[in-house]
Amino acid sequence: MTAHVARVLALDHTGVLGGAELSMLDVTAGLGGDVTVRLFADGPFREALQRRGVDVQVLPMGALGGVRKGSLVPSPRALLAAWRLAGDVAREARTARTVRVLYANSEKAFVVAALAAGRCGLPAVWHLRDLLGPPHFSRLNTRGVVTLANWRATRVIANSQATADAFVASGGARDVVRVVHNGIDTAPYDAVTDASAHALRECVSPGAAHVMAVFGRLHAWKGQHVAINALAQLPGDCHLWIVGAPLFGEDDFAAGLRAQVERLGLASRVHFLGFRNDVAALMRAADVVVHASTLPEPFGRVLVEGMLARRPVIATAAGGVREILTDGSTGVLVPPGDAAALARAVSALRADPPRAAAIAQAGADHARRAFGVAAMVRGVRAVLDEVAG
Ligand code: UDP
Repeated sequence: MTAHVARVLALDHTGVLGGAELSMLDVTAGLGGDVTVRLFADGPFREALQRRGVDVQVLPMGALGGVRKGSLVPSPRALLAAWRLAGDVAREARTARTVRVLYANSEKAFVVAALAAGRCGLPAVWHLRDLLGPPHFSRLNTRGVVTLANWRATRVIANSQATADAFVASGGARDVVRVVHNGIDTAPYDAVTDASAHALRECVSPGAAHVMAVFGRLHAWKGQHVAINALAQLPGDCHLWIVGAPLFGEDDFAAGLRAQVERLGLASRVHFLGFRNDVAALMRAADVVVHASTLPEPFGRVLVEGMLARRPVIATAAGGVREILTDGSTGVLVPPGDAAALARAVSALRADPPRAAAIAQAGADHARRAFGVAAMVRGVRAVLDEVAG
């Protein structure tokens, strides 16, 4: 353990870089010396935090790692692992004396924070970035975590109104919830030049007349298979970039996507780019950014990013998406899971470049105004300050 532990002890269960972790990266970097991070698994997230100067260490989570969102009930071994981890966190918080609040960034982290809060007498804040309840979470899992939240969460920060509403609809106490939208750093988007985007495009899809690109971890509900089916209905000079990796063990789904591409004879038009750190440049290099989630999205960072990249964004109309863009002005909405509607939306934008450009510009202006990192950090800090006293 480091000698210095700050006022906020922040917890996250994973070492991979999902959207929740990328957002926490900006939050904790924004909080600066006020925060110490403990992760329950090692990985690129820990490295990214260190690169940003955030104090971080890993406390391995043992059997708690085996619990999945859809799990009915955690095993006794997982519960024991959570209890032990909570003991470690509580001990560290008590020993450090400076800690005033436990700040959890994921469901598993919140379970640990809630158990630790009782043992060290500190308030717990849950940054909720998931839509609780089916279809994302089992009813039992939801009931368990909401009961814990009603008992132990002094505040729940929801990343969208949709996330807040799902928490309350699942039985969560309304008065503890504060909505703080995610903010996205504009610097990588400002840094992309047309020349570098053009070079990148030629490198990935030489000669492609039209490129649609979908970004995010490979997972059935993220809808990459729908984007592939949409491509099958588009002319042969249109290509699809699939950017992202199976972050949480969805290797079978990823293999299924490749098989689908082969079966449809699209191998020369679909490019699997894996996990990338140059999302801003790739978005700018594409003609249209597609969000294809088949289930409601809690927030959807990729929407704001596509808008910042000054690309028209086509997204599925569910969950927090409607809080980010408005159909026909700052983006285009299609029904979830509807490949034909997605293909029609891509074709319509391609056929009308002035409309595509107007939507892209309006989206970029809106994203800059509404989803800044500074506002997000201010919002989270205000909640932590209120609770920490
Ligand atoms: N992302 C990335 N590299 C990739 C694919 C995705 O950095 O290859 C980022 C993407 O830019 C976004 C995040 O992963 O910031 C995904 O966040 P989102 O809210 O869209 O989905 P989540 O993973 O939280 O469900």
